[in-house]
Amino acid sequence: MEMNVPGVTDAELHELRQSVFLSTLEQLKGWARSNSLWPMTFGLACCAIEMMGVGSSHYDLDRFGSFFRTSPRQSDVMIVSGTVTKKMAPILRRLYDQMPEPKWVIAMGSCATAGGPYVYSYSVVKGVDQIVPVDVYIPGCPPNPAALIYGIHKLKEKIRYEAKTGKRVM
Ligand code: SF4
Repeated sequence: MEMNVPGVTDAELHELRQSVFLSTLEQLKGWARSNSLWPMTFGLACCAIEMMGVGSSHYDLDRFGSFFRTSPRQSDVMIVSGTVTKKMAPILRRLYDQMPEPKWVIAMGSCATAGGPYVYSYSVVKGVDQIVPVDVYIPGCPPNPAALIYGIHKLKEKIRYEAKTGKRVM
């Protein structure tokens, strides 16, 4: 049924209806994406052992809709777990570029966040955010699997917030 709103033209009303519909659709897409994150396996050092732990039956990451993929083309989250060396940096960037949009990055552990115990090493990148944009940082050396699950939930909240507001938060 058509409704007349005083002071609003039919064209404005039509535009408003469309924007309400589109914003709801974006929120629905954000909700769906946040509940089916597919991380790429990208273990670089000891933190990777903890990352593998989330797939075990004890932590069971699958119950949150997240399944590890072996191909960047099937992944929307890169979990950088471990020490990023300068030799590895261009490969990491290439894999990130091969992931389809929208995509997110989690820096797991103090090495991926800021270089960790190797912060004074000539061969280590002082944080993966110098190579790719990072959405969530998880502190610890190493963070345990529960901390990674917490970080993934923070990323889900962020994805839903971005879908709702239309703003990318870094
Ligand atoms: S943060 Fe600690 S546990 Fe993780 S990769 Fe670096 S040294 Fe290893």
